This record gives sequence, C-alpha cells and structure tokens, in this order.
Amino acid sequence: MAKRNSSDHCSFCGRSENDVNLLIAGLSGHICDSCIEQAYQITKDSLSKGASKAGGIDRESLPNPKQIKDFLDLYIIGQDAAKRYLSVSVYNHYKRIIQPADANDVEIEKSNIIMVGSTGTGKTLLARTIAKLLHVPFAIVDATVLTEAGYVGEDIESILTRLLQAADYDVAAAERGIVFIDEIDKIARKGDNPSITRDVSGEGVQQGLLKLLEGSIVNVPPQGGRKHPDQKMIAVDTKNILFVCGGAFDGIEKKIAQRLNTRVVGYASKIENAQVDRSNLLQYVTPQDLKSFGLIPEIIGRLPILTYLSPLDRDTLRKILTEPKNSIIKQYVKLFEMDGVVLKFDEEVFDYIVDKAIEFKLGARGLRSIVETMMMDAMFDIPSSKQKHLHVTKEFAEHNIETSHLSKLKLAN
Ligand code: ADP
Repeated sequence: MAKRNSSDHCSFCGRSENDVNLLIAGLSGHICDSCIEQAYQITKDSLSKGASKAGGIDRESLPNPKQIKDFLDLYIIGQDAAKRYLSVSVYNHYKRIIQPADANDVEIEKSNIIMVGSTGTGKTLLARTIAKLLHVPFAIVDATVLTEAGYVGEDIESILTRLLQAADYDVAAAERGIVFIDEIDKIARKGDNPSITRDVSGEGVQQGLLKLLEGSIVNVPPQGGRKHPDQKMIAVDTKNILFVCGGAFDGIEKKIAQRLNTRVVGYASKIENAQVDRSNLLQYVTPQDLKSFGLIPEIIGRLPILTYLSPLDRDTLRKILTEPKNSIIKQYVKLFEMDGVVLKFDEEVFDYIVDKAIEFKLGARGLRSIVETMMMDAMFDIPSSKQKHLHVTKEFAEHNIETSHLSKLKLAN
C-alpha cells in the first residue's frame, strides 16, 4: 500500500481523511470505510443475483427435450418412455417459468410428474440427473415419514425445508427447484372406499400435499421439525417448484390387468388381448389405476404426467454395470488409478456379477454391493503394496464372492 498524506481524499466519494473514520491507501488512490461498505454490499448483491441466475434458467440455457434425453442417456440405461415424458415435461415446466407474466396471455399450467416402477429401476436417478443438468436445487423426500400436522413424524412443510437446505437458503433458487417425493404409493388410502375414520398415514398426508403440488405460499421452518418451535418461518412459493413423485405401486399390475380384461357390454375392448404385453403391464398404467390403488383424485389431478419404468432385465443390468458415464466399473477403475494401479476386468466377470445380482434378488442396487465385496481385499491390500496391476478374472470374482457374507444371502432367499 502507498504511504498516506494528511491531505488525502477518498478516490470514490471525495471526502477528506478528516471526514471519514478510516482511509485506506492503494497504489494510486484511496478508499474510505463507508465506500468499502457500499462496495461490499454491491458485490454481495450482484454475486447472489448471478448465483440465482445460475440456479435458475433462461431461454438460451434451457436445453430442448432431445438434449435433455441425450443427457439422461449418458447416465441411465433404457427407460426410454420415462425419459421422453420427463424431457418434455421438464422442458415445458421451465418454459412456463420463463414466459413473461402477462395477464392476458394463455396461462400454462404446472406439470408435475408421477413415475410408476419397481424399486431400483432408476426413478430417483432420473430426477437427480435432470436436476444436475439444469443446475437447480434438488431434494429427495420419503413420503412414508410424512404425517399430518399434530402426529408423530415430519410435517409436510419439511419437504420444503430440505429444498431450502439444498439451495443454501437461497429462496429464489429453491422456488425453481425440483423435489422428488419417493414412495408416494405408501400414502395411498387403504381400500378403495373413502373411510369414515381418519386415516393418519394416508389420506391426510395426501390432502396436505395438495397445496404444495398445486402452488401456494407455504411457511417453512428453516431447520425443519418441531424441535425448534421459535424459529422464524421462511415463506416459499411452490408455484414454480417441479414435483416428481415415484412409487413401486406393488400390485398395481393386478388392477391394470383387471381393467384390460373388463369389456363393457356391447363394446369391444380397444386393446385386443393378443396385443397386450403381459410381461410389462405397467406400460398401460392410467390415472384410473392410481385411483383404484388409493391415490385421491385431487392428487392424481395435480400429477398430470404419468409414466412408467420397466423392470430391469439381465441385459440392462449388464449395461448398467459398465456403460453409464459414472458406471460402477468405471468408478472402480478410477479409484485404483488414483493409487497408480491399472485395473482390468475379464468380460465374463460382468456376466458373473449380473448372475449374482439376479440370484440374490438385489437388482441394480445390488450390483454395487457385489462389486464392493469382490474388491474389498484388494482395496485393502494394494495401496500399501508395490502392485501396479490388478487383473480381475472370473476365478478371482467367484473366490471373493463365494467366501463372503453376501453368499449367505442365497440361503436367506
Ligand atoms: P428407484 O428410485 O427406482 O428405487 P434408483 O434410481 O434409486 O431406484 O436406483 C438405484 C440405483 O440403481 C441407482 O443408483 C443406479 O446406480 C442404479 N440404476 C437403477 N436403474 C438404472 C438405470 N436404468 N440405469 C443406470 N443405473 C440404474
């Protein structure tokens, strides 16, 4: 810093040293304490604006449905129907947010999404990947922990607490985020008839969710829960938050089959029985089936985009292991590479891993635990040894799996 003179002035506001509390000298000028404060405020404001723009989306940066699907293809194998539905509805959702507010214009309605598919088929992964592409805050909540206010469990508003936390409490960013509500099927009404007694876990929660899904201003406890009764609430507008719900809806195939088999007297069914693919009935799921499962019509109405995920067959599991951009195998190769070790797998090892995942009934989630178990000893020993190569053969894989705790699963099933 340059030396200061008693006759120095602030180069920004022009006040002399005698009129300010502090004057700091730079190479060819000075700045006073109040100008520093103002400059700090301007910097903070413009940085936070920049951040929420990055957390938001504008017309130029919004990818089109094809680009969204291409991005999803990098991380998720198969599930084409769900990817197309999601790409289109996410694109429309953000177009709707971007459109300038004009009272006379056509108002585009919000298009929340519901995905039906067995557990571990990629529902969460799809929603998470979209949030990653769009750089918007993303929160996952489990519908089973939600209860009506006053009961033991989490209030519905806690969903938004999670989103606020994901957005670092930037309310504007959270208001354009994505919430994935998992296990939505677990809050279905038990039985098709509205019950006269209160149904704590199911219908009440569905009722509570309505206002969130539809779009309203909700007071959210920033820390969540009821443990901090005196915390100041934050108002969050859910109008532009995209809700993606997912559920396995175990047994819904039966309802779909029943519907497909029912012919109204005098009318022939549109889908001839011969054309129905009985191995994947979920593809015929309609809002009506969700209603027979126990979702209330109001909820179904607020989740207008309905799509399904197919069960994962052997071929898909095999691809999940090696093909996605961050596939499990690629992750292990990377981990070893960081220790300077070249990791190689024989092709037949992949088939073996898939066979075991099917045998242990672990699905895609199990692939990771199988690889983890298989590699555990090597991951423990190699970093402290001089070994620079590891060639994983089928014998290596068999030996490590057959002698592990995982093989006990076979007995358990
Ligand atoms: P769900 O939400 O349907 O229960 P997830 O999305 O959590 O399932 O999937 C569990 C894990 O299985 C994911 O982390 C991912 O590694 C893997 N997985 C499942 N389906 C796929 C898929 N279609 N493509 C790639 N990986 C998948």
